[in-house]
Amino acid sequence: MISISGVRGIVGESLTPELVMRMGEAFGTYVGGNKTGPEAPLIVVGRDTRVSGEMVKHSVLAGLLSTGCSIVDLGVVTTPTATIMIEALKANGGIVISASHNPIEWNALKFFGSDGIYLDTEEGKQLLDLYYQGDFKHARWHQIQEVTKDSSGDDRHLEEVLKLVDTKLIRSRGFTVALDSCNGAGAGITEKLLEKLGCQLIPIHCTPDGLFPHDPEPSFLNLQDLCELAAREDVDVAFAQDPDADRLAIVDENGSFLGEEYTLALAADFVLSGLENKTEETATRVVVINMSTSRVTEEVALRHGCRCLRVPVGEVNVAVRMREEKAIIGGEGNGGVIDPRVHYGRDSLVGIVLILESMARSGKKISELAADLPSYQICKAKIALSRTRTAETLNLLSQTADGQGAKVNTEDGLRLDWEDCWVHVRPSNTEPVVRIIAEATTSERAQELIQEFSDKIHQLEKDFEEQI
Ligand code: MG
Repeated sequence: MISISGVRGIVGESLTPELVMRMGEAFGTYVGGNKTGPEAPLIVVGRDTRVSGEMVKHSVLAGLLSTGCSIVDLGVVTTPTATIMIEALKANGGIVISASHNPIEWNALKFFGSDGIYLDTEEGKQLLDLYYQGDFKHARWHQIQEVTKDSSGDDRHLEEVLKLVDTKLIRSRGFTVALDSCNGAGAGITEKLLEKLGCQLIPIHCTPDGLFPHDPEPSFLNLQDLCELAAREDVDVAFAQDPDADRLAIVDENGSFLGEEYTLALAADFVLSGLENKTEETATRVVVINMSTSRVTEEVALRHGCRCLRVPVGEVNVAVRMREEKAIIGGEGNGGVIDPRVHYGRDSLVGIVLILESMARSGKKISELAADLPSYQICKAKIALSRTRTAETLNLLSQTADGQGAKVNTEDGLRLDWEDCWVHVRPSNTEPVVRIIAEATTSERAQELIQEFSDKIHQLEKDFEEQI
């Protein structure tokens, strides 16, 4: 699957070395592959622990090298580590080889600009145009550059993350922390982080061999091992990462899954509470989240006198808006915390240190911190829909939604907001499906909304069929 947000596929089926190499040639050309010698563009490449990672890496390196790029190979690193290194090394761009939370048979390329932020829609389009045109800038033999290995990424990343918090205070609490890295890229670096914070670590699935012990999406159903461990052992908190460690889910000291939506809300609550004694204009205090993120974070922002802005789904949209608005914190409800003091990208390590300091400073248990937040139930569903009719269907849906007393937003699919609930219907960027996300004060009401809107969509599809 090739889209403006990258290329991903099943290894041995759709994701072949030829395709990956051509994407490397396209990206090398995109970043200025016609520049040579000392001018040669520098590209940072990292990968998660997937078994297919090495194959994909060699293919993409061949493509990049052929266009005259010089390469820094970070080896196995988390996505946030790679993006921090793009900036630190003043590289012209970067590629991370990871299918993120997708199952083990998948792999993918993610493309970043020189600022370490994902390519935006326009940039992604330019890259795709180059790929399809196939007019690559190939270097001559004497213009071919080198691949340099750099293993300093973890230390640099840890240093940046640890600057955010009072490490002495966290150390003094001697927390016991369980960690499930899904045998992904988060394993080593997060163990080191927790060690530096004086935590006693109980690791589960922290062997970075890429053999995922469960579906890697950090959701309730996939984290049963961690929940049982947290319930059985005397832990203060348990953390779970996806294989490239940009997302973080939290399990409390009793073994209850808090829900990924609470990760950003808890981190935001802590960071924003630190502003209380500062005197700067409250009008400039901004939090940025996407359209599908829980209202919990929105209400947390309001509690602390901040504005909360919503942008279309996609990390790049959040990151770019945060930079424009000089936002204090932001991210995505899927466990993606973005703290601009470290980098404009989702980072599970940032989430971990903020939550630990929040526990250390308040003296509260993680379950108590979660209970202090507004209580909402979010439900998500997806339905298959032919791509060609998606726009029409959403259009009709927004017309029929008029008059239901809702606030209508059509910046990203259709979002309807009522006093105590909301629903967001949007086409996926990567699959021929429509996602429906609903949130209400009870899960029954949220489920009802999901049902109501999937019925409406099915009805519209049926009407289309009959017209033909
Ligand atoms: Mg990820």
